[in-house]
Amino acid sequence: MTDSAATDPIRQASKPYDELLKLLRDAATLSSVQTLLGWDQETIMPPAGAALRADQLAGMSGVTHRAWTSPRIGELLAACEADGAVRADEGALANVREARREFERATKLPTDLVEEMARTFSLSIDAWKDARARSDFAAMAPWLEKIVALNRRKAEFYGVPKPTDPGAGETTVLYDALLDEYEPGMTAWRVERVFKPLRARLTPLIAAIASAQKRPSGAILETGAPLDAQIAFNRFVAEAVGFDFNGGRLDVSAHPFSETVGPGDIRMTTRYSEERALDSVFTTLHESGHSLYEQGLPKAARFGQPLATYISLGIHESQSRMWENFIGRSPSFWKWALPNAARIMGPAFAKFSLDQAYGAANLVKPHFIRVESDEATYNLHIMLRFDLERALISGDLKVKDLPGAWNDRMKSDLGLTVTDDKIGCLQDIHWSMGAIGYFSTYSLGNCYAAQFWETMQKEMPDMERRHERGEFAPTLAWLTEKIHRHGRRWRAEELCKRITGQGLGHEALVRHLEGKLKPIYGL
Ligand SMILES: [Zn+2]
Repeated sequence: MTDSAATDPIRQASKPYDELLKLLRDAATLSSVQTLLGWDQETIMPPAGAALRADQLAGMSGVTHRAWTSPRIGELLAACEADGAVRADEGALANVREARREFERATKLPTDLVEEMARTFSLSIDAWKDARARSDFAAMAPWLEKIVALNRRKAEFYGVPKPTDPGAGETTVLYDALLDEYEPGMTAWRVERVFKPLRARLTPLIAAIASAQKRPSGAILETGAPLDAQIAFNRFVAEAVGFDFNGGRLDVSAHPFSETVGPGDIRMTTRYSEERALDSVFTTLHESGHSLYEQGLPKAARFGQPLATYISLGIHESQSRMWENFIGRSPSFWKWALPNAARIMGPAFAKFSLDQAYGAANLVKPHFIRVESDEATYNLHIMLRFDLERALISGDLKVKDLPGAWNDRMKSDLGLTVTDDKIGCLQDIHWSMGAIGYFSTYSLGNCYAAQFWETMQKEMPDMERRHERGEFAPTLAWLTEKIHRHGRRWRAEELCKRITGQGLGHEALVRHLEGKLKPIYGL
């Protein structure tokens, strides 16, 4: 897939636009150093390097922030906004619009706050690793208090966003300033309009599954394989779906992630369990989905420009969930993957039928841990976090009361009794790394993915037959053409409307889950 449409130079020459793009590229180059330091911290840095790393990250974040907020960028943005050549070009206009947004946000924050956040979040990640290992919430509480206070200060500098749809009764709160960073234009009010009906449909489905007579066996998931065979199989799967190893890496980390250093350097991680070999495959598919999005952005030609940047975390997550859940838990995928698993990881996988593999990939069972949850109950985990983090920012919930509030919700929403904070409110890295306002984007991504999936099935009627043969290239080409290559040309919901004809909604996700799970569970 080329990005020729996206690399067309602006039709008429514009000096301020050219200079703006150069400064954006310089700033992105500095940011990429910071990204690399973060990747190293999560993968191979020795533990004793943590204090120096916090100083390095604080220093680099200051340098980067000064580059993004240089007064020259402000002058150039104003010149571009008045420049007829820029205004006549849709792509250039999108670049200027989004660069203006980022510039406004960055200049609202004082550099000392940016540095303090970088240092605090880097140290608190290490404190969290330790606190989580010992299930010691008391050790983590002072860090969380600092993090909530820093996020509140940040949100106050940003200011409460204006409602985009006041006619529909939309209201905005301080928390929206944080959410807007991860999902531009989104507000808690709008998220709730998706989450409430989604919960109302998921709760009875999950309850019906829990009491269903028919239940698939998870035996194939309990099948192990030697580490080197698992690594070989995961690389095979990542390559088959289109991950370019010449421009990327697959490593190991405790908490899998994918990270874009820059053009030609997209890094992802997975984790392996000798006893449960297939877990890593779903993780690798998920991270591959993120990485394929990044590899499909026109980074080589447009590094640093909004047109080479992902739209939002919700859209990013729609791509990871597409490969992990919609493709990776489908019968056509397993028709291809199962014989390959047996060939690469050993004959233990040959004793399972396609039905058994497909059923196991779609087991629904409430779990304490978000990342080990199935496609249906997963969304309840997100709603719980979304509600609690909003309460932390509004002040309705004190950090010291977080474990109790968490455990109450796990009981009422998922029927689980948390006895240990390690599998309760200490399980996720997000709050410890300062990311408040992030969680809802996971379920928004599920909704977007379901909406895209329905359109893909219509527009590519042979898609799933091709997946049975391991032919994923046309699917990736479709995603690249419709989503990846456009970068941040449109907002998430506008992209969704362009592709599917509909705005964001919960119905497609419900249709997907009911359509798949009811037959599996004989409902
Ligand atoms: Zn993800």
